[in-house]
Amino acid sequence: MELVLRGHSFRYECENLCRLFFPYSPVRVTEDAVSGEAGVSTCIQPTGEGYVYTVRARWEGRSCTLTQTLPAADEYGMTELLYRALREISGISPAWGMLTGIHPIKLLRQYCTEQGDVAGQETFRSRYHVSEAKTQLAMATLRAQRPFTEALRPEDFSLYIGIPFCPSRCSYCSFVSQSVAQAKKLMEPYFQRLLEELARTGEIARDLGLRLISVYVGGGTPTTLTAEQLKRLCTAVGEVFDMGDCTEFTVEAGRPDTIDREKLMALRSAGVTRVSINPQSLSDEVLRAIGRRHTAQEVLDAFALAREVGFGEINCDLIVGLPKDTLQGFQRSLDGVIGLGAENVTVHALALKRSANLITEGGDLTLHGQRAEVEAMVEYAAKRLAEEGYAPYYLYRQSRTAGNLENTGWAKPGTVCAYNIHSTDECVTVLACGAGGVTKLKDPYADRLERIFNFKYPFEYLSRNRELMERKEGIRRFYEQLRQRLH
Ligand code: SF4
Repeated sequence: MELVLRGHSFRYECENLCRLFFPYSPVRVTEDAVSGEAGVSTCIQPTGEGYVYTVRARWEGRSCTLTQTLPAADEYGMTELLYRALREISGISPAWGMLTGIHPIKLLRQYCTEQGDVAGQETFRSRYHVSEAKTQLAMATLRAQRPFTEALRPEDFSLYIGIPFCPSRCSYCSFVSQSVAQAKKLMEPYFQRLLEELARTGEIARDLGLRLISVYVGGGTPTTLTAEQLKRLCTAVGEVFDMGDCTEFTVEAGRPDTIDREKLMALRSAGVTRVSINPQSLSDEVLRAIGRRHTAQEVLDAFALAREVGFGEINCDLIVGLPKDTLQGFQRSLDGVIGLGAENVTVHALALKRSANLITEGGDLTLHGQRAEVEAMVEYAAKRLAEEGYAPYYLYRQSRTAGNLENTGWAKPGTVCAYNIHSTDECVTVLACGAGGVTKLKDPYADRLERIFNFKYPFEYLSRNRELMERKEGIRRFYEQLRQRLH
């Protein structure tokens, strides 16, 4: 699709909107007139009375022209007009309207803080053309988060630890994790450096008087580590950080083919309170199609084992839009997870980045492109989970998702994972250790976030470790400057 921009510089926002409607059509930005069959021309022209906005859109024989005059030339005026034109020619009304950002709850919180819940919710819905159902979902999520966000103290922080290894690569994954077979020799040195990074981070947190409130070990698949390494890792966290205020310690035991009794017992005895066992689907055919080397039965067995070992809080991730799945298949997966009694269920919309094997190797994307089908899956999940007493508590969106839908975490009462709120909502500092980790330093008195990036790949993490350790001093600088500002 061609996208013509004239008289404005809102390229990024306009491109995102075109992708929202036509995710499989590459966008070519130009300043010339639309020459092909599919294209959008956008223009802002100053006049004596203000600015005239014009959008002309053409797609598969349908065309539409919209104009409006506004007192100023701004991004919202342009994108809102473009949204209406694209909706007209495509016949699609996206459930999240023209929102393309990944943090809708943050936006809703901002409106509710400024205008109160009733008016804030109405602004969110009408300004961005968000459907009533998604507005309600966002509002329910915001309400569930409040006890957690409102209890935060300025010195609180969460800890993220990344283990970038997996038993094999899932075909939809774009994460930079290394398969264990490829990276076996890197694992022990990586582990040693990670312990050093944790020690340094703990020292900085202590010096600054910061308080650890939640720990999350993710990846990758942390349970690719041995039972002994898992125990050492979790014990090290308890040794280098003050755990007095830490109410939650999660480890992603994502792939059942990495879990055994010894590892689960090691986690349990080291103080881990919550694990995530992620089926993604309970259909063997779908699991094969996405390159997971385990069966649905192995998921059920791993779940039963985690219960036996004593885990009272278990999360299960499911994905809508996977190859070979169907609405009925997804319903069986969701019912299966509910039947297991998982305390938390997270429903993801399949997001496909360019580097995923499904894209590079030309996998089956039929379902990913069927908006109505994936919307029906998400609707079924929301209805069934609510009936079973789960409530939504965190929500975020990614680009290039099936049906342009959201990822929502659901929890039974009293089992919310605070870390998920902290990380998706960016409402508290998260100190990250390990390859690919991003430390997010949150100014508790302002809407300001500073990031410190760790190296992505394990080999870089090892070879540039000194540089990485130096970057950690940025945490100290951030808090010292914050305190100076306050005095
Ligand atoms: S387990 Fe997760 S991180 Fe690992 S390859 Fe699969 S999707 Fe990617």
